[in-house]
Amino acid sequence: MSTALKEEEMESTIKRAILPNPVILQSEGLYEYILDTAAYPREAEPLKELRKATASHPIAFFGTSPDAGQLMAMLMKLVHAKKTIEVGVFTGYSLLLTALTIPDDGHITAIDINRETFEIGFPIMQKAGVAHKINFIESQALPVLDNLLEDKENEGSFDFAFVDADKENYLSYHERLMKLVKVGGIIIYDNTLWGGAVASPESSVPEPKRRGRNSLIEFNKVVSADQRVDISLATIGDGMMICSRLC
Ligand code: SAH
Ligand code: CA
Repeated sequence: MSTALKEEEMESTIKRAILPNPVILQSEGLYEYILDTAAYPREAEPLKELRKATASHPIAFFGTSPDAGQLMAMLMKLVHAKKTIEVGVFTGYSLLLTALTIPDDGHITAIDINRETFEIGFPIMQKAGVAHKINFIESQALPVLDNLLEDKENEGSFDFAFVDADKENYLSYHERLMKLVKVGGIIIYDNTLWGGAVASPESSVPEPKRRGRNSLIEFNKVVSADQRVDISLATIGDGMMICSRLC
């Protein structure tokens, strides 16, 4: 096989790796159109490299998709995000995206219970010259957030937060992040449409996805009634609940 062909095959494997991401759109073709037209052409090289490094991972679809990443980066820029929190790193697509987006003296507190997956992406972050902005903490997220709240100076000091870990705890994360993120700051909760399962009867949802479904239904309901934030439950990726803190 020629090198060019191999390259092409590789590209298509990497591309497909994110398609198992529950697609909310009408067709895979439409999703590919979005990726090909708007997302891939504008995606930074280190992010492509990170996708490549993640593609063979059995749960590569955990990675944030490039189209969702594009929206996240735009929101970060709009609020001039400099100090951020990430809950759920995996191999680091959204982390690297954040590190590439915030200024050189920006800072990310990135939390994950799994250091091994983070280490798949970390060399790419170093090569991209953004590793100095990242403080990776290997831990359950809740105690880390509580720890941050023990220091009053951290209250309202973060510009942006991305939550993409255990769905059962989203409401607990929300209560803490509403104190840590400043008024005018943004909190994004990922996978809030849960492959569409939030709108399906519980009995039709495969057993392993039920707890997540039930937690997210409750989370979406509570956040929707939370007058402290503006919200948009955006149909991008697997659904993102975008919150902007009002008070
Ligand atoms: N944002 C990532 C994907 C995260 S996948 C990306 O763009 O690639 C979810 C991650 O949450 C996994 O890496 C998992 O180890 C982590 N996780 C699960 N439960 C957690 C918890 N209680 N605290 C912190 N991290 C957790
Ligand atoms: Ca996710």
